[in-house]
Amino acid sequence: MTTLSDLNRLDTAAFVERLHGIYEHSPWIPERAATQRPFASLAALKLALQDAVSLASEGEQLSLLRAHPELAGKAAIAGALTAESTGEQAASGLDRCSPDEYAALHELNAAYNARFGFPFILAVKGPTGQGLTRQAIIATFRRRLGNAVPDEMAEALRQVHRIAEIRLNGLLDIQLEFGPAIMDWAEQLGAISDDDDGLTCAYMTSAHRRTAAQLADWMRAAGMEIAIDAVGNVTGRYAATAPDAKTLITGSHYDTVRNGGKYDGRLGILLPLAIVRHLHARGERLPYHLELIAFAEEEGVRFRSTFLGSNAVAGRFDLSLLDTLDTDGTSMRTALQQAGHGSADLASTIPAIARDPATLLGYVEVHIEQGPVLLEKGLPLGVVTAIAGSSRYLLELEGLASHAGTTPMTMRRDAAAAAAEIVLLVEGRCSTGGSLVGTVGQLAVPDGSVNVIPGRCRLSLDIRAASDDERLAAVRDIFDGIDAICARRRIGLRVEKLLEAAAAPCAPRLMDGLGEAVQRAGLPRFDLLSGAGHDAMAMAAVTEVAMLFTRCGNGGISHNPLETMTADDADIAARVLLDFFRSYR
Ligand SMILES: [Zn+2]
Repeated sequence: MTTLSDLNRLDTAAFVERLHGIYEHSPWIPERAATQRPFASLAALKLALQDAVSLASEGEQLSLLRAHPELAGKAAIAGALTAESTGEQAASGLDRCSPDEYAALHELNAAYNARFGFPFILAVKGPTGQGLTRQAIIATFRRRLGNAVPDEMAEALRQVHRIAEIRLNGLLDIQLEFGPAIMDWAEQLGAISDDDDGLTCAYMTSAHRRTAAQLADWMRAAGMEIAIDAVGNVTGRYAATAPDAKTLITGSHYDTVRNGGKYDGRLGILLPLAIVRHLHARGERLPYHLELIAFAEEEGVRFRSTFLGSNAVAGRFDLSLLDTLDTDGTSMRTALQQAGHGSADLASTIPAIARDPATLLGYVEVHIEQGPVLLEKGLPLGVVTAIAGSSRYLLELEGLASHAGTTPMTMRRDAAAAAAEIVLLVEGRCSTGGSLVGTVGQLAVPDGSVNVIPGRCRLSLDIRAASDDERLAAVRDIFDGIDAICARRRIGLRVEKLLEAAAAPCAPRLMDGLGEAVQRAGLPRFDLLSGAGHDAMAMAAVTEVAMLFTRCGNGGISHNPLETMTADDADIAARVLLDFFRSYR
């Protein structure tokens, strides 16, 4: 068996020889990485190999991609693959394709090669390392065939690195301590859904209650004391030896958007769960009480009001929301009562959830990034600097619906044309290169017809930035611009403000603690802004907060069944968080 210290000691030729099967027919990769030795950790070795590829010329990168065999292609059938590829393809059952599946793969291979000039590469052992099904492989193949060329080349290289990661685990006989359990739990929770296909777990539905019960069972089995509060938060407490110790809170939400991903929210619950299970098994206590809170609601799907769970813990739950109705006309109060939370007086049980800030050490949340930044950087983890503040508006433009054939261009009051100008104004004003982003996500011509000039147009506006000043300045400029557009085009304007949320900066002390743990794992510290809102934003009202982001696969897609991450990334995130917990004072 090879160990990391063996790899650090070998001469360059022997190092390259030992790693020859990690990257398909490309000894230049370990050769270039060899100069970075000694490696402090497996993560550092992986990163050095990856960097050798990133710094290579495009020609070298293409030659690496072209060194890979087709999936279930001619070479596989002829038994001409490397030992590594043969094993991987067989583990996914690619050697047992039906005639239809062979035909589909054959056709896809030809189309893919013609489009991109290299073979389709997929780590067929998948995110867990246990192997993708043939159906999943073929579906991914079809989807990626539609990618733009530069995006697909980047994705192919990422798959090459994932293949190398799995092969390195085999070579060094690495057993992931936390990752597989986290992935397995996420899969089990992902199967509990309000819908038959896809994952939907909306507030206080039957799937939501079953998810809470499952989490409580797991937390109890991991050695925690369990409480489920009046809004449905599931809290597991791992007590310190000293009863008067303060409390560090970690956690995230277990509700999902409609047809959402398995890791959004849940990762931040399951990862600390694996850590506490580990601590409990070792009989190890932390010098503070650790509370793991699975927040009942963050996404706002059922009652259109977000952060219900974390706002309750922060003492900011707005009791008037209890009268809000869902689309079936059920009030939140009734939904809570039906779920068994309403036996007592909610007006007193909900405020009682609030934590006393004086007892708290801080709040740390792990969350999948839900964007492409870490993926493009080739890093598994990032330290969040702040959660962006946001401003959201609904605009209604009123023009004049008139005949598309008879109204001269100079005599129109076209609401959609004004909206088009507004979309480009938002894009232009927000393209400053900083953290500012602006989006028109909804754009509609109500009751529009093909032969009628749009008389009305409805559009949304979402503007976010790390700094409130920067965001508010952009909002002012955009509304000045909108006024000018509407005046010039003689368009009426109605504005409804939907949301105004201040940015929540993370505490430098906690960020440094996370950053140092990342570095001790052999990875560079990389800081990034969270453009999405998270429970940490609500918790910032009562205590210092910090967040650790994990890399999001599939181009960074989230709020979607395609959301994905790997067992290896979950594992290193867990080891970093455990290290942070142990060193935290
Ligand atoms: Zn989330």
